[in-house]
This record gives sequence, C-alpha cells and structure tokens, in this order.
Amino acid sequence: MVRTYEKYTYSGSPYFPDRGAYGVAEPITERVNPHSRRTVSYYFPKGVGSYHFGERHPMKPHRLTLTNSLVMGYGLDKQIHEIFDARPATREELETYHDTDYIEYLSRVTPQNQGTFKTEVEAHNCGEDCPVFAGMYDFCRKYAGGTLAAARKLCSGRTDIAINWSGGLHHAKRGEASGFCYVNDIVLGILELLRYYPRVLYIDIDIHHGDGVELAFYHTNRVMTLSFHKYTGDFFPGTGKLDDNGIGLGKHFALNVPLKDGIDDKMYLELFTNIVSEVRDKFQPSAIVLQCGADSLGCDRLGAFNLSIKAHGDCVAYVRAFGLPLLVLGGGGYTVKNVSRCWAYETAVLAGASVPDALPRTPYDAFFADSGYTLHPPLTGRVDNLNTPASLKKIVGAVRNKLRYLEGAPSVQMQEMPPDLQGLLASEERSAEEQAEREKEDMGAGSSAVASPAMDMDVDS
Ligand SMILES: [Zn+2]
Repeated sequence: MVRTYEKYTYSGSPYFPDRGAYGVAEPITERVNPHSRRTVSYYFPKGVGSYHFGERHPMKPHRLTLTNSLVMGYGLDKQIHEIFDARPATREELETYHDTDYIEYLSRVTPQNQGTFKTEVEAHNCGEDCPVFAGMYDFCRKYAGGTLAAARKLCSGRTDIAINWSGGLHHAKRGEASGFCYVNDIVLGILELLRYYPRVLYIDIDIHHGDGVELAFYHTNRVMTLSFHKYTGDFFPGTGKLDDNGIGLGKHFALNVPLKDGIDDKMYLELFTNIVSEVRDKFQPSAIVLQCGADSLGCDRLGAFNLSIKAHGDCVAYVRAFGLPLLVLGGGGYTVKNVSRCWAYETAVLAGASVPDALPRTPYDAFFADSGYTLHPPLTGRVDNLNTPASLKKIVGAVRNKLRYLEGAPSVQMQEMPPDLQGLLASEERSAEEQAEREKEDMGAGSSAVASPAMDMDVDS
C-alpha cells in the first residue's frame, strides 16, 4: 500500500515544473592537455546581489545573483579552480584612490539622513543616476573588495585568471559618483596590479566610455587604457573621442574606439581583434584588465549595439588566449536576463569549458522562459547599423598611427621595476599647464551637453 506522503511529494507538485534533462559544463582544454589548463579564481562577494538602487533605476544588482546561479547551475564551480567570498574593502583601501572626504561621505550618508548632507550630495554628484540607497557603502566595499582580492591573487602568481562580475564600475571619479558607479574598483585593482606588474593594459567593451579609468591613468605610461564604446558627443558620459590620447607621460597611452549605433558581431570582432592584437604587440602588457560591460549586447535596456552573447564572449576568449595574467570584471548591462547569460557564458569561456545552450534549472527560471531557457537567444538586428566598413577602416588607421608613437619611446614604458605607488600617484599630480590642456579638451568634447543614463532610461520605462 502506498502511503500518503509517498504519493504526494513536493517535487511532484505543479509548483516544481520539470524542464527535463539539461547539460552541465564540460572541460575543453583539459582534453588537449590537462597541464596547460589555466587556473581560474572566481570572486562572488556574498550578498552583493541583494542591494537595490530603486524601483525605476536600471542598475539591478540582482543580475549578479542570476549570473552566479547560472554559473553554479551549469556546474562551472567544478571547472573553476577556486571560488572566493572576498572580504569588503576597508576605508584605507578605498582611499588609495578616492578622496578622504568622499569616502567619509559615502560611509555616513543614508536615504534617511541625506537631507542633512545636501551640499555633499550635490558636490559628490549623487542624485538621479547615483541615488543614495540603503546599504550603498557596504555595496561599494563588497564589489571593490572582490576586485582587490582578485588583483592580489594575480600578483601572488597563484592564479592565471581572476573574475569578479560585481566589479567593473568604470565611471566613478576620485571624489565623485557617476553613471551608477560610486567607487572605482577598476582603478583600485589596477593600482594593486601595478605593485607587481610593470605595465597593465585595460580593455573596456562596455557600450559607455571607460572615462573614470582613463582619467585616473591619463598621465601615466604604465597603464594603457583602450575603450570601445558608443560615441555621439551627447551619449553618456560624452567623452572618449578618437583624438583623446593621454597627457604628459601618458600621452599615447589612452586609446579610444568611438562607434556608432547598431554595430554587429562581424564588424565588432574584426575591429576588436585588429586593434587589441596591435596594442598588445606595441605596449607589451604584463597583465590585462578586461571590463566586460554587457550593455554592448543587442536588446540592452540602455545600449544600442547589436552584439550577440557569443561575439561578446569571443572578445573575452581572444584576450584570454594571450596567456597573460587576466583580471575580468563586469560593468554595465541593463537587460538583466541577458547580462546573466552573458557573464555565465564568459565564465565558461574563461574556465575553458563548454556549456550547452539549454540553461540549467535555477530559482530564476521565470527570467528565461520567454526565450525557451536558452543561453544564446537571438539579440541582434533590433537597431540599424550606422557603422560602415569605411568608418571602421578610418578608426583602425587612426589607432595604428597613434601606436607608432609607442615604438619611439620604449625606454619609458619598458621600465621593469615599478616605482613605488606613492611615487606614481605623486607623478600624476597635474601641472597647471596640463590641467589647462585637459580642460580645453573637455570643452571641445562638449561636456556641457552630456546626457545622463537616466535620460536613456525614459526610453524604456
Ligand atoms: Zn555602460
């Protein structure tokens, strides 16, 4: 006789729909040579996906929780060497780059008391794009802590690749929040890498210009920043034109690839591989930081490119293949279901594993139902491609021209022993002349007409 509790089980109830069998991650590189498999460390600061910028705000930290659930659901945890819950960054660590008064403000302001911080809220650019939300400072400490721990792991030589999808907040400035970013974990991570690695290449494939990182290293030749982004002059943040190049010692060490709406996989990959390979040859980085903003995917809530998840991942695979120490970070990405698919796929790419198109079962299945629970839904073709082969050829030509300058000054950027960081930061103090030059250029970029992401937001919400 069947007893009642055997007949009626929770998992047999309609609340647990069984989507049938699905695959898990399988190693690719191991089949070739198990010893050549690269060590991958994955950082997921506990609770980082639980913060909330506000109901109508496009930045949803929940995307990190979804990403992590897909990574685990695919069984990628068995392909990754180590998984870490990094400790939050300390105030001293944040102040390695950020102004003391800014960090003091971030640590004290809350949604309840922000009325008493009116001057500071304005001075530090908190408002519509960068609202004061509950737990804001803890959120910043968590994602920055992940990036710092990842960078340190790379410096220790105990990992080849370190991933922190909660990092990559490239717009934050020294004393100012910007574009949904409060603390610039990328700058902190690069400063950490510079303690050990003589030259760091920063590559940014977010649809927005990596302005905060460019600005921080605009005066140094030890960091080359290379940003691929949409540029129209009034698309946020309004900077990143082809001619912006670096200043002083950093002249020729900031590269910008401004693109128009709708760029497709083929064009983007051709451009990316051409430029990145050339930059690697000329700059000879000792480590690479890759910001993988997923708002460059097709169908992004704020973006306007046409990239598929596969092509976005191909960029990651291309950089991985250099075999250099690699710090991989997240960034923008506002269609939550696609961001999580993209970063889960890229985790597989970095781990050297293959994953099936059928998504694993997770508590977040509802997000993926409309696309049949697939990893690679069609995302392309929603926006007309305004880039032409001729316009891209012009960009590649211009970048090549700029890179020629690097050949003439090898003694400067090829220094093997990094100077101490205090020295580096001090050397970046701008002379009055450089400051004036920068301001003049900023004026030229039409910074007064900068549009904010919140304006883009209205299109969708
Ligand atoms: Zn972005």
